[in-house]
Amino acid sequence: MTLVYQSTRDSHNTVTASQAILQGLATDGGLFTPLTYPKVELDFERLKDLSYQEVAKVILGAFLDDFTEAELDYCITNAYDSKFDDQHIAPLVKLDGQYNLELFHGSTIAFKDMALSILPYLMTTAAKKHGLENKIVILTATSGDTGKAAMAGFANVPGTEIIVFYPKDGVSKVQELQMTTQTGNNTHVVAIDGNFDDAQTNVKEMFNDETLRAKLAEQKMQFSSANSMNIGRLVPQIVYYVYAYAQLVKAGEIVAGQEVNFTVPTGNFGNILAAFYAKQIGLPVGKLICASNENNVLTDFFKTKVYDKKRAFKVTTSPSMDILVSSNLERLVFHLLGNDAAKTAQLMTALSREGQYQLDPVDPEILDLFAAEWATEEETAQEIKRVYDMSRYIEDPHTAVASSVYQKYAIASQDSRKTVIASTASPYKFPVVAVEAITGETGLSDFEALATLQSLSGVALPPAVDGLETAPVRHKTVVAAADMQREVERYLGV
Ligand SMILES: *Cc1c(COP(=O)(O)O)cnc(C)c1O
Repeated sequence: MTLVYQSTRDSHNTVTASQAILQGLATDGGLFTPLTYPKVELDFERLKDLSYQEVAKVILGAFLDDFTEAELDYCITNAYDSKFDDQHIAPLVKLDGQYNLELFHGSTIAFKDMALSILPYLMTTAAKKHGLENKIVILTATSGDTGKAAMAGFANVPGTEIIVFYPKDGVSKVQELQMTTQTGNNTHVVAIDGNFDDAQTNVKEMFNDETLRAKLAEQKMQFSSANSMNIGRLVPQIVYYVYAYAQLVKAGEIVAGQEVNFTVPTGNFGNILAAFYAKQIGLPVGKLICASNENNVLTDFFKTKVYDKKRAFKVTTSPSMDILVSSNLERLVFHLLGNDAAKTAQLMTALSREGQYQLDPVDPEILDLFAAEWATEEETAQEIKRVYDMSRYIEDPHTAVASSVYQKYAIASQDSRKTVIASTASPYKFPVVAVEAITGETGLSDFEALATLQSLSGVALPPAVDGLETAPVRHKTVVAAADMQREVERYLGV
C-alpha cells in the first residue's frame, strides 16, 4: 500500500510522495503530511555498519514509497557524493558532555545541503514519472541558508527555474555574497525590503493565487517549493538522526535501544520535525529539545500552548532562526490535534487574522516529547567561548544557541540521557560572530574574521567561502516586499 500524504488543511486533498514533492505546497494553503508511518526495521546491529547512503536508502525507500528502488538509488548516489567534504556526510563529534552532529559538510556549509542536494533529483525524477512537461519554477523565501543551498542544487538543472527572495538586512555578509554571486542561467536572486516572515508570507500567497497559477500554466510552467514546507526536504532529514544513532551504537557510546535526546536549533521547525518523524518509525528518542534565539515564539508555545506572533521581530547573530511564523509547526499541530485538518485550518486562519491561536485539547504523548528553551545573544556568544575554551572546537552561532539551551535544560531537568546537538552551520559562515565571541575583538570585516578563524581553528577555509570576496556579484535586484509577485511575473514573462 502506498503511503498517503494529506494536506494539513483539507482531508480530501491527498497525494502520493512524488506528487507531494512536485507540488511543494498544497493549493489549499496546507502542507502535505504523512497520515501514518511506514514500517521500518531499525536493527542497529545492522544499521551501525551501513554508510550514510545506505541508511538513506532504508529511510527514503520507506517514506517515498512510490519511487522505485532504482530511482532512489540514482537520486542518493548523485546527491551524497564528493560535494560533501567528509565521507561520513554527517560526522558525529564527541565533545565534553555532548555529541555534535555536523550537518555542514555540503557545498554551502549549512545543514540545508543535507536535503537540498537531493531535492532537485527527487523533483526531476518525480516530474519524469508523471510525464510532466511544464517547467518547474522553484519559488523560495530564505532566512539565509536555504536560498544558496537550493540554488547550488538547482542551478542549470534542465526544466527548472529558481527564484530566491531574502531579507536585505537580515543575513550575514557571507550568506549574502554566497547568494548574489550565484551562477547558472536559471537562477534569480532578489533582496527584499522586509524580514523573512514577509518573504515567506508573500511566497505562500503566490502559491495559493489561482490567477497566477493559471497564468503560469498557460506558459507551461508551475510552481514548486524548496522550503521545508516541501516534504521532499523533510524526509532526507530523517536520515541523519537514524545515522547518528547508529554511529553512537557503533562507537559503543550507547547500546541499541537506549534513549537519546536531540537538541535542535529551530527556525521553521523543519529539522526538529524530521527528528519527530524518526521517533515515529521507532528511533529511541528521549526528548526533542527545541532551541530558539531571542525570537522565542516556539519556547512560549511549548510552555503555554498559545502561539502568539504579535511581538517584535529581532535580528540576531543566528539569522536562519529569525522567524516568527514557523511554517512546519503546522504539521506538528495537525498531529497534536489527532490529524484533524478542519481544526488545523481554523487555527491557521486565526494565526493569519488575529496573530495567535490556542491549542486545545492536544495529544499529551506527543507534547511530552518536546522540551523548549531559548538563549539570549549574550548566552550564545558565551557558549561559543565556553565550548572553544573546553575543547578547541568552534560552534557557529546557531549551533551555539542549541548547545547553550541544552546546558540549561540539563541542569534544570537533571535528565542525564546522552544528547546530540544538531550542528547546523560551519562557523565559517558566521566568522565575525565566532571570532568576536572567542577573542573579544570587535569591528572585524567578514574577510578579516575568516582569516582569524582559520588560525584559531586550524580548519582549512572551505571552498564555499574561499574566493567569495572577489567573485563577481551577478544579482543586484532589490524590491519592496509588496512587489515580490510583480518581480516574479516580470522575470518569468507572464
Ligand atoms: C535553517 C537553519 C536553521 C533552522 O532550521 P529549521 O528547519 O528551519 O528549524 C538552523 N540553523 C541553520 C544554520 C539553518 O540554516
